[in-house]
Amino acid sequence: MTTALRRPLIAGNWKMNLDLRAARNLLRALRENLSDVAAEVAVCPPFTLLAAAAEELKGAPIRVGAQDLFWEKTGAYTGEVSAEQLVDIGCSVVLIGHSERRRCFGETDDTVARKLKSALRAGLMPVVCVGETLEEREGQKTYRVLQTQLKGALSGLAPAEAGKIVVAYEPVWAIGTGKTATPTQAQDAHLFIRKTLATVLGSEASMAVRILYGGSVKPDNADALMAQPDIDGALVGGESLKPVSFLRIIHFQAPAEAG
Ligand code: PEP
Repeated sequence: MTTALRRPLIAGNWKMNLDLRAARNLLRALRENLSDVAAEVAVCPPFTLLAAAAEELKGAPIRVGAQDLFWEKTGAYTGEVSAEQLVDIGCSVVLIGHSERRRCFGETDDTVARKLKSALRAGLMPVVCVGETLEEREGQKTYRVLQTQLKGALSGLAPAEAGKIVVAYEPVWAIGTGKTATPTQAQDAHLFIRKTLATVLGSEASMAVRILYGGSVKPDNADALMAQPDIDGALVGGESLKPVSFLRIIHFQAPAEAG
């Protein structure tokens, strides 16, 4: 974690969970117990809860994010929501290309690239998710998959826009499974991602990009993951629905400064 260059970001992905009442209770618990936090914090509720979340968090140091968006601004796209509509109701963050969207809804690197551009157009902070499946990892294809996903997502992106994006490394085999990448496995993938970003965006720009780890992050593994030099935050699924756990992850213990 390099705090000087990249402020840590802890984001919660609620997925398709919670009703309005439970959401308000969770947000109040977070808001009331956030003390002196070094990290930037975001929550990503389902679309139906975004407006209420923005209202509930007004004035609090917690950003509201969506879990997806569509790239057109307006029009005949039944069921879709644009970046501009998200900004209108108080969102400032959006997840793009989560593995569940790739797997269940056919998202590709091309749709991820289009969504990324529309998020930047509207001034949202995009969190672009990449990661390999277990089969790909066991077939020694992790680096190839990460490189293809990143290059596909970032095609056409100007280096000047690089500082505005966040990448989340989420090994698919670690999402919702209770299996976490070891800090060394995660650091190894994050370093590879940063090197790939350097080839696409230039090395200075790559140093400014925050790379989050996601995949069964919990209170008892967050500190060790956050101690890695290229892990700049966490994308948290299941544990972000539990206020005590999410607050503990948000208030992770930074490693003591060497020297
Ligand atoms: C996620 O949904 O992005 C995620 C990492 O989920 P979990 O923390 O539950 O593995």
